[in-house]
Parts: sequence; C-alpha cells; structure tokens
Amino acid sequence: MASNQYPSLLQGIAGAQCPKCRHERMFSHKAYDLRNFLRMPERCPHCGFRFEVEPGFWWGSMYITYAFNVAILVAGLICYFMFALPVWTVVLGIFFMALILLPVLVRLSRVLLLYLFGQVAFDPRRHDNTPAQNAPYFEEHPNPS
Ligand SMILES: [Zn+2]
Repeated sequence: MASNQYPSLLQGIAGAQCPKCRHERMFSHKAYDLRNFLRMPERCPHCGFRFEVEPGFWWGSMYITYAFNVAILVAGLICYFMFALPVWTVVLGIFFMALILLPVLVRLSRVLLLYLFGQVAFDPRRHDNTPAQNAPYFEEHPNPS
C-alpha cells in the first residue's frame, strides 16, 4: 500500500482510530450506545497498542471535554446576543446541546488526548501488518515506540 493511502492524522482523529496503526477503532461500541459508549479494548486488536498509555491517562480528557462545553456555552451566548433570543431558549439550548453531544465529545476528548499528548507516532508497518505479524507488539509493556 502506498504511503499516501494511509489514513491522515485528521481521518484518524475523526474516525477514532488507533493512533499507532490507524487500522482499528479505539472504541468497541457506537457513540450513542449509552451503556457502552466509553468501552475500549485494553489493546488495539490489530497492532497491540495499549490505549491507556499510563495509569489514569483518561482523566486528562476531562479538561478537553470541559473546553468543548465552554465552547457550547460561548456559542449559546453569541446566539443570545446576535439574534436576541429569549434567555430561556438559550439556556435550554445550551443544556440540551451539552447533553446530546456528551457521548461524542467525551469520546473525541479521549481521542484528542491520546493523539496530542500520548506521544504516539503512526507506524505504517503496523498498519500493513496482519495482527499475527504484529503479535510481538502485543507482548510488550509498556508501549513500544
Ligand atoms: Zn492499532
């Protein structure tokens, strides 16, 4: 496979793909499967990358989720001042936007945290390898670079 056929960084983030191989998804369920939307395999089933790169790593994603919710709040305030909407419309709009987008934003926060702060580089060989060829990486602990 030619190198320009690999998923780009943005495609990897948008598709919540494993940052190491960009071949498998990080989450095992759909975003609106509300019981399971945060469930992730411990390791990428394709390349063996351990998603939680250090204990408690996902706690950091709360800050990113918080920033997303601040953005929703700011968007609501902009609507309030630009379109002179009734205040309760804006308050309810902000509340339901935050509620409805929660699963998507929490997952996106984890993906962004791992891509931006996980210190993990895309490895085309791991993308091209079969899981059996990647098997040695499954044994390594902590994450190989
Ligand atoms: Zn992988």
